[in-house]
Amino acid sequence: MMTMVIGLTGGIGSGKTTVANLFGDYGIDIIDADIIAREVVEPSTVGLNAIVGKLGADILLTDGTLDRSKLRDAIFNEQQLKDWLNGLLHPLIREKMLSNISKATSPYCLLVVPLMVENNLQTMTHRLLVVDVDESVQIDRTQARDNVAPEHVKKILMAQASRQNRNAAADDIISNNGNSAELKNKVAELHQKYIKMSHLY
Ligand code: ATP
Repeated sequence: MMTMVIGLTGGIGSGKTTVANLFGDYGIDIIDADIIAREVVEPSTVGLNAIVGKLGADILLTDGTLDRSKLRDAIFNEQQLKDWLNGLLHPLIREKMLSNISKATSPYCLLVVPLMVENNLQTMTHRLLVVDVDESVQIDRTQARDNVAPEHVKKILMAQASRQNRNAAADDIISNNGNSAELKNKVAELHQKYIKMSHLY
């Protein structure tokens, strides 16, 4: 039987990880795109072997793992190489997401993808939950967490889908401008709603 898949997304520092952990406290299975993106290029995977085949063993660190900053430099301003890499990795990531979804055992599962709307991955979900915050809150929290300049956060914000576009794609929006107790209550409500809906799947 197919588990109901709730997509979870939001801009940088909106609170995706915090929200996912709160659902995790209810025993909900979490499938995290960031983790999967790292898994598909672990040593001796099809992904990493193809990258080494294309760019040479210089793209590896001495311990045999991918040198991410070197790869980032290699694709910077190299659109063809970037397209090749996306063409390689995106299907591998999708495949692993689907495989993990099929293994989920909780009444519904969460698929957490930071760039869900940008990459149109909400098509893999039954419903999309967007964590929404005011830009000022987003900047303050990210700055505090990562110890970076506000300009740095603003630059990342500009590269992501606009708040308006993201919210327009949402079935449910969780506003995270308040404190963590408020967030916890909102997740509790949504969890009840999803449990009820999950019987339909
Ligand atoms: P990213 O996309 O950058 O990985 P994210 O969307 O996963 O970020 P989190 O890491 O969950 O966001 O949250 C960003 C920061 O804001 C964290 O330091 C987190 O502890 C804090 N935070 C999240 N929600 C709240 C809240 N309601 N009140 C106070 N701090 C919060």
